Amino acid sequence: MTAPKKPWSARTLAAQAMGVTDPLTKAVVPPIHVATTYIRDEDNAYSSGYVYGRPDNATTREAEDVLAMLEGGKAAFLFGSGMAAATAVFQALDPGDHVVAPTVMYWALRHWLANEAKRWGLVVDFVDTTDLDALRAAVTPGRTRLVWIETPSNPLWTITDIAAAAEIAHAAGARLAVDSTTASPYHSQPLALGADIVMHAATKILNGHSDVVAGALVTAAEDDFWARITTIRRGQGGILGPFEAYLLMRGMRTFHLRAAAQSASAATLAERLAAHPAVAKVLYPGLPDHPGHAVAARQMAHGFGYMLSIRLAAGEQAAIATAAKVELWKRATSLGGVESLIEHRASIEGAGSPCPTDLLRLSVGIEDPQDLYDDLSSALERATGRG
Ligand SMILES: *Cc1c(COP(=O)(O)O)cnc(C)c1O
Repeated sequence: MTAPKKPWSARTLAAQAMGVTDPLTKAVVPPIHVATTYIRDEDNAYSSGYVYGRPDNATTREAEDVLAMLEGGKAAFLFGSGMAAATAVFQALDPGDHVVAPTVMYWALRHWLANEAKRWGLVVDFVDTTDLDALRAAVTPGRTRLVWIETPSNPLWTITDIAAAAEIAHAAGARLAVDSTTASPYHSQPLALGADIVMHAATKILNGHSDVVAGALVTAAEDDFWARITTIRRGQGGILGPFEAYLLMRGMRTFHLRAAAQSASAATLAERLAAHPAVAKVLYPGLPDHPGHAVAARQMAHGFGYMLSIRLAAGEQAAIATAAKVELWKRATSLGGVESLIEHRASIEGAGSPCPTDLLRLSVGIEDPQDLYDDLSSALERATGRG
């Protein structure tokens, strides 16, 4: 008798992209399936399961299998961007449905919810989801259909209690969806904490190389709501193309190594920058003085992620000047890549943003953390005279 197959760890399965190889050549990297159409059987059936390139693609499906595994979900869909994935969830609701979303969240999605969602007939309320009493008060049984949270949330890295939010949503007959982009499956598995759907901007650390725009949804159950999302993904043509899916899968093979290194460096930088004379405040859930630290410590594993922000004692112009003076950090939007990025976030978020103007957002890559500290510390000193 052969021994039962070991339940391999997520890291092992991701490294081998679920162990898929090519049966024709025995290649350890499966080919990219580029066909848009497939041969019908003589009896008119499609026995391979593939019909046309818009509803489905084998390479995209391989990457979706990795994502479903990483999140412990039943199924996953990849979309052409994180925004396409997120908006598919809202489009799966019915006109008149009530949605609760956080005040601090990814800016473009907040903008879409505030300005576009009402055209779909949705009623959206924004609430501080870190405050469970406020969340409870914002949810109406029978009327609220979806609670959306993001944790840690852009760009203040506030923490929402996922298990408590799931309980509140479910008690009202609503679903909980979590934008887990910045936690990533390395630190957090929202489905295991009671969430119904997890969304990722796979553009970020899952791909990790700043060369693919992609979004993902992973579901806890293949229920009616997932069926709606399936119809939307297939009908509206939101599928991620096979070349991008291949690159994403290649990125996910090293995801655990990158996430571990980036989160360790972010923690080191958070601690060191907190002691820098030009820095008034470091926002990082790994720091004990962060208001969400206790909840983060409970619901995140292996650390607190690769994102942090700093607030400058000398204000907005000093923040912009610091970003102008770095040499190693790249002055750019986005996050999660192997290269570290710095951004004056208020400039991009515009009016109505909860982002303070003295804030610089830092996405920590895989460079030597000493180099990252030296470069930023020197820029801070040259911009503010404090070092
Ligand atoms: C980038 C990002 C998104 C949007 O993803 P795109 O791929 O840029 O559309 C959504 N949520 C968070 C937290 C993000 O960082």
